[in-house]
Amino acid sequence: MVEITFLGSGGGRFITITQLRSTGGFFIKSSKSIYVDPGPGALVRAWRYKIDPRKIDILFISHRHTDHCNDAEVIVEGMTMGVTKKRGTIIAARSVIEGDEEHTPALSSYHLNSLEEVYTPKPGDKISLGNDTLLITPSLHSDPSNIGFRLKTPEGDISYISDTQYFEELKEWHEGARVMITSITRPKDMRIPYHLCTEDVIYLLKSMKEKPEVVVMTHIGMKMHFASPYKEASFIQNVTGVKTIVAKEGFKIIMRNNDIFFRTLKPARNV
Ligand SMILES: [Zn+2]
Repeated sequence: MVEITFLGSGGGRFITITQLRSTGGFFIKSSKSIYVDPGPGALVRAWRYKIDPRKIDILFISHRHTDHCNDAEVIVEGMTMGVTKKRGTIIAARSVIEGDEEHTPALSSYHLNSLEEVYTPKPGDKISLGNDTLLITPSLHSDPSNIGFRLKTPEGDISYISDTQYFEELKEWHEGARVMITSITRPKDMRIPYHLCTEDVIYLLKSMKEKPEVVVMTHIGMKMHFASPYKEASFIQNVTGVKTIVAKEGFKIIMRNNDIFFRTLKPARNV
């Protein structure tokens, strides 16, 4: 069984600073526990849906933008029992680990040294994670080291198309995945550089011979939020025939015995 729990579906600077949609990323429980893109509020959202950061094995961070990596250090503190135990793995863009011209690294060396393994893989690299294999996929983003993935599990493949503009090879990297988690920042044809809009995703899906069973829309920006991502999702679904769902915090996908189920979790009460 594979479970994917979303801790938000927000993306971009204005959704992030207003928290009109949560920005906690998502969590995959397969043969390993993998936390993906812990934006602002990830730790709080994780506990709200009973995800214990002390049980996370792998932290994956697509790139060094705040909406994807803000909570990286506190998640690592969870993974390492408050930096008392060398434990866990980070798999991240080079900019996250080393910084770039405009950014410091997203984690201090204190936190990085507390982990067992630190990877900065390139597109095409494969990392084995228990019974699963993580294939690193490329992106075209303003952070040039941005990476996505395709996680190959016994229940089928889960793709994550992180922040990217449309490019033709996206199809080859993600064709045949059962679940395609896709950062769709803008509605209709309102594309901005380095991000996908609804029209790009329709084009991508139409070009795929083997289409995903489910597309999950995430990284919803302010324009998308007010254009109604639900309308955009049903448009994608009508035009391509691919089931399209808008992520939100507490949304859960369960892949079991060749079936895919969807749940909406209730948040736990905070004290
Ligand atoms: Zn970005």
